Amino acid sequence: MTDHQVRKVVIVGGGTSGWMTAAALAKLLPGRARIHLVESEAIGIVGVGEATLPHIRAFNERLGIAEADFMSWTRATFKLGIEFRDWGRIGDSYVHPFGTFGRGLGDVDFHHYWTRLASAGVAVPPLEQFSMACTMARENRFALPSTDPRELASTFGYAYQFDALLFAPYLRAIAEGLGARRTEGRVVAVDRDGDSGDIRAITLEGGERIEGDLFVDCSGFRSLLLGEALGEPFEDWSRWLPADRAVAMPCRTGTAVTPYTSAIGMPAGWRWRIPLQHRTGNGYVYASAFVSDDEAAAAIRAAAEGEPIAEPRLLRFRAGRRARSWVNNCVAVGLASGFLEPLESTSIYLVQAAITALVELFPDGSDARSDRDEFNRLIDMEYDRIRDFLILHYHATTRSDTPFWDYVRTMPIPDTLADKIDLFRRRGRVVKYREGVFLDASWIAVYTGQGIMPEGYDPRADLPSLDSLARGTETLRADILRSAAQAPDHLAFINGYCPMRQAA
Ligand SMILES: Cc1cc2nc3c(=O)[nH]c(=O)nc-3n(C[C@H](O)[C@H](O)[C@H](O)COP(=O)(O)OP(=O)(O)OC[C@H]3O[C@@H](n4cnc5c(N)ncnc54)[C@H](O)[C@@H]3O)c2cc1C
Repeated sequence: MTDHQVRKVVIVGGGTSGWMTAAALAKLLPGRARIHLVESEAIGIVGVGEATLPHIRAFNERLGIAEADFMSWTRATFKLGIEFRDWGRIGDSYVHPFGTFGRGLGDVDFHHYWTRLASAGVAVPPLEQFSMACTMARENRFALPSTDPRELASTFGYAYQFDALLFAPYLRAIAEGLGARRTEGRVVAVDRDGDSGDIRAITLEGGERIEGDLFVDCSGFRSLLLGEALGEPFEDWSRWLPADRAVAMPCRTGTAVTPYTSAIGMPAGWRWRIPLQHRTGNGYVYASAFVSDDEAAAAIRAAAEGEPIAEPRLLRFRAGRRARSWVNNCVAVGLASGFLEPLESTSIYLVQAAITALVELFPDGSDARSDRDEFNRLIDMEYDRIRDFLILHYHATTRSDTPFWDYVRTMPIPDTLADKIDLFRRRGRVVKYREGVFLDASWIAVYTGQGIMPEGYDPRADLPSLDSLARGTETLRADILRSAAQAPDHLAFINGYCPMRQAA
């Protein structure tokens, strides 16, 4: 990238990534550069992506979005975590909560005490029973967390489940209100500078040429600028994450509007269940090497709990990411930069992480190379960490009922993940992070939920007497039950707080 000020940003693509980028740049860097977004209604957006992580709340807050208004426009529900069914073994169920397990004493996390009790032969309930988020989720209750750190009701967080087709238009109104410009049209050519390789302009089907200083590629899986025009290679991770297709089919809600997403193991992958206010999203994520498209579509029809409201829709993808997400004067955000299956609802989080890094490192006309390197380091770290976390779900299974589960159970895993598992198994310790997503409770939930039990624990957990520890955990469990019981039914809370807007 040549060292010059960025006066105009061109965003290609108007899906969730494109409009999140436009709204964030317009809001957080006002007057810094003109923002021009190009999208093609004929091509459309991927239109799935309904479950999120708690980080989205900070993003919305920075944009000044009022929660109840946003939820009612996007017909959203609350999400306290993800329920995993049939993963470790058929019949198993555990919740990955947004929040902590129990309360630590001093510097020692609660699960170390729990492990000590279990290894001393004390009958302790499963770890999830010491989580407010899990307990509320299992009882189908929701209330906003307390801001008083002394209360148990402060030990959980939450995210949203929303209609993906309504989120981008909601952000578009914000971005356009802040001055972002939109052009409808299909990009057919990309003009690059012969010397620097920078993108100079894009050309639309009708011949219109749009110049810019910085180009943000939000064109989805086709990665029009970074992948096609700049030729940045794709690192393929399908040997670890073999799912390469999904068949999505929304249906009417037949049972509870749960405050959590479900991920349910299937013969060649897993299926999601995401309850919204007006419907339930379903989809089967599968490896096409192990099941045909027709079989997958039949399986999702059979599994959906209510009357279908659309035909099954096929989506193709490949796990992995571009080697670099920022090259020359082109930054890829969202699917144009890479994709990891939606098992832990991480794609919109990755969009947000890229936008945050772009805002922080927005070109200032100097030292652009080190800015780009730092951006790429941050994005690589996010992808690599999520990749390992996803692989853990497949690797830590005892299922052997189909060739798919045999494959993922026995496949070689990255060394980075093998080391993490070893540390947890021996000492109950989770590799510490200072940046990025999925902190201790997330890893602990999946390890223990899928049968990787720690053999050791933090030596400081030996300090209290066994009796006092056993009594303390019993009291804690009773307090959590009492506190969770005070929260209203999830749907009742929504109806009072953010009932969906009816279509005009
Ligand atoms: C099966 C599946 C399930 C998912 N579930 C989740 C989930 O639960 N949670 C989550 O966080 N994420 C999920 N995702 C990912 C999520 O959908 C995406 O990260 C998110 O929607 C962002 O997509 P995008 O904006 O990058 O791309 P898209 O939505 O594909 O948008 C691409 C844009 O580029 C435009 N475009 C493309 N080519 C051109 C061209 N030549 N000219 C002009 N415009 C062009 C299109 O018109 C469109 O506006 C899921 C993805 C899949 C495939």
